[in-house]
Amino acid sequence: MLVSQSLTFMSPTIAALLKSATDTLQATSPTPRLDAELLLAHALSWPRARLLAERSHAPAPTEVATFLAMVARRAAQEPVAYIVGHKEFFGLDLFVDRRVLVPRPETELLVELALAEAQRLDARRSAPDARPSPLTIADIGTGSGAIAVALARHAPRAQLYATDLSTAALAVAARNVAAHHLAGRVQLLHGDLLAPLPGPVDMIVSNPPYTVLAEVAPGVRAHEPWLALEGGPDGAAIYRRLVTQLPAYLRPGGAVLLEIGAWQGDLVAGLLRDTLPAATISLHQDLAGHDRVVIARV
Ligand code: SAM
Ligand code: GLN
Repeated sequence: MLVSQSLTFMSPTIAALLKSATDTLQATSPTPRLDAELLLAHALSWPRARLLAERSHAPAPTEVATFLAMVARRAAQEPVAYIVGHKEFFGLDLFVDRRVLVPRPETELLVELALAEAQRLDARRSAPDARPSPLTIADIGTGSGAIAVALARHAPRAQLYATDLSTAALAVAARNVAAHHLAGRVQLLHGDLLAPLPGPVDMIVSNPPYTVLAEVAPGVRAHEPWLALEGGPDGAAIYRRLVTQLPAYLRPGGAVLLEIGAWQGDLVAGLLRDTLPAATISLHQDLAGHDRVVIARV
């Protein structure tokens, strides 16, 4: 009796905390165990691997309270990235909060293709008659700055513009640009689509809002900014406006790369064909096999 009573009042171990949090999150998260581990590691300021090595450690009561509060937020379907304040994207650590969309893994495909395109454009410019000026790239609707920061880090000769209609998002992007020491090469601009650009650029990259809000997962809809997601009645409202601005802002020989929803490939390719009739257009699939990026080479 005494023994079981003292057990009841003992602080729970890491193993017990992970077990009960996983059970709690089962109902609302597709990844309950992973979420529990990420949150507990964050509450303890430990690397996640240490949780497995020290399963019988009993965290201090204040640490347990912090963890339980975070589990409650996650149970209400708040993204883990907002709770812990950062997200890994293209191997880079980014600060995120509810002012910006959490960068998605499928957007890494857009970055990969953009880097290949940047290399192609750069190689052409390095020909003897090419201009010595740096390659210029615009990331339209930069949000956290994920795409611009990843491109700047991996294309060290490029000059970037990153735009957003949300000044709140630009504040987050500024923090990430500074944290990655890119303030000299990534210029943040406020305004609608391509309008804030100072002139034509070599490459335009964008992951614009393209969802039909009613079809977005409830957790995403409840917590992430609508301005980052809402693409009008068919999800394509932003593409329609963006493509009409392209001829004025794309240098000859340049390229535009757009992330799209899985069902929007033909529609967006068609919009690009209408405004850039001479362009070569290609569709690219993500790891799940869905159409995810359209490229137009002018
Ligand atoms: N580029 C980030 C990423 O891939 O993680 C964020 C993409 S999020 C889907 C779209 C972004 O576009 C949001 O940051 C939103 O504020 C911005 N946005 C929405 N409408 C815009 C507009 N008319 N002009 C510029 N940016 C806009
Ligand atoms: N992939 C995001 C989602 O489905 C949407 C991103 C976007 O609208 N560009 O939640």
